Amino acid sequence: MQANQHLVIIGNGIAGFTLAQQVRRQSNCRITLISAESATHFSRPALMYVYMGHMRYQDIVPYPDWYWQENNLVSMHDRVEEVDFAAKQLQLQSGSSTAYDTLVLATGSCPAFYNWPGQEAAGVQGFVSLQDLELLEKNAKGINHAIVVGGGLIGVELAEMLHSRGIAVSMLVREELYGQNVLPRQEAQLICDHICTQGIALRLQEELAAVLPDATGRVRAVRTTRGEDIACQLVGIATGVRPNVEFLRQTALELDRGILVNAFFETNIPDVYAIGDCAQFRKPGPLSPAIEQLWYTGRMHGQALAATLTGNRRAYARGPSFNSAKFFDLEYQTYGYVPATWSDAYDSIYWQHQNQHKAIRLFYDRASSTLLGLNLIGVRYRHDLCHHWLEKQYTIHQVMQELAAANFDPEFSKTYEQELMQQYREHFPQHQLHRKSSNWWQLRKHFALFSKAASCLQNNR
Ligand SMILES: Cc1cc2nc3c(=O)[nH]c(=O)nc-3n(C[C@H](O)[C@H](O)[C@H](O)COP(=O)(O)OP(=O)(O)OC[C@H]3O[C@@H](n4cnc5c(N)ncnc54)[C@H](O)[C@@H]3O)c2cc1C
Repeated sequence: MQANQHLVIIGNGIAGFTLAQQVRRQSNCRITLISAESATHFSRPALMYVYMGHMRYQDIVPYPDWYWQENNLVSMHDRVEEVDFAAKQLQLQSGSSTAYDTLVLATGSCPAFYNWPGQEAAGVQGFVSLQDLELLEKNAKGINHAIVVGGGLIGVELAEMLHSRGIAVSMLVREELYGQNVLPRQEAQLICDHICTQGIALRLQEELAAVLPDATGRVRAVRTTRGEDIACQLVGIATGVRPNVEFLRQTALELDRGILVNAFFETNIPDVYAIGDCAQFRKPGPLSPAIEQLWYTGRMHGQALAATLTGNRRAYARGPSFNSAKFFDLEYQTYGYVPATWSDAYDSIYWQHQNQHKAIRLFYDRASSTLLGLNLIGVRYRHDLCHHWLEKQYTIHQVMQELAAANFDPEFSKTYEQELMQQYREHFPQHQLHRKSSNWWQLRKHFALFSKAASCLQNNR
């Protein structure tokens, strides 16, 4: 980008803001970020902690005002209502307009509502934005029972938030078990058990049929598809999110569910790109989703596009996938590919604690013994090492040799690791495992140094 050019980014979330930051390191061009939600960038995954009182809003704003000024990043708190791609012009809600040379759409996601009768009643809301957080403060005041509809990660967050204020919460989950679409049955069962022990009424195989308002237009109950009416004063809709692209539907921009892009985030219109939750890859990588709706992938999109816009054209390569979440106090990490169900071509080594909510699954390809993914519940492994195993296509035998180095918790390695090893031996009775001189601490040190060096390099980039 040349100094006299204007880069306009719609959205100052992790994708848009990372892009602005990275372009600024390489270019003196004009950079403007426009957001309808907030004048500054904040951490969306941390919104729940503001509600629960663990953090204040200012604690989730990583860059103060002076950072924007010092880096000459212009912030506009406004909504883009129309894009004239031919004239390279944006029409804003405030009545003004802005011209661009390069436009990046980083418009994120919005909650998916499914046209339930009564869904417009007061007290029915999603939870994605800062405005949703403010609305929740209002809607949850003085209530005693809330219904959360949907079995995703945001649903559990909402349940935890409301529960933390002493509000009774019931969750309606369509499937037989929470998380059953994405998790193998054993993990899904374990997480269900954990959610129930937190005091949440998990109503499985129950769906929302209608919201029932009172005479003032405020929700008084929901009707389920089983025909039962459940009294409540708040309904949290957590039935997924969808790309925030509706304002672009009647334009020449090619859309499917999201904005269609190639591996360089180029859309069908010259000088127009899309990144983050709103982008949909025309040709996603093997085992990768077409739409990546994660914090760290948004950041990677921003980094990759910044390289391209500053003269170092680079195709996006995500590498082994990763996600982590918390179900109340229960940590969950997943790496690579672990499907909910699988054919005989695959197998897994699974360990679960007898009476605690802890489990590990190592998923592999039977023919080659290559590790394809890991699920960890209530146990945390070293991110860099798991990533390394997957990136280098380790076999399950190689992984077992290095297993102890992945562990943060020495208590775990002493006791439960033996049980996992036993599972492995039952799967591979013929295989002689040559554990590498059992110098695990050496290996740990090596990876600690490796990750420190990698993060220094990253920060200096
Ligand atoms: C409650 C919650 C918890 C989450 N927790 C996690 C987690 O733990 N880990 C994880 O990996 N991911 C998590 N995610 C997902 C993650 O936050 C998103 O993937 C990520 O924030 C998407 O970033 P983005 O930059 O693409 O878009 P966003 O952060 O959504 O930013 C898009 C911005 O564009 C603005 N915008 C849209 N249209 C317009 C317009 N027409 N005019 C002006 N501005 C516009 C929006 O107002 C918004 O501010 C969570 C999401 C939610 C909602």
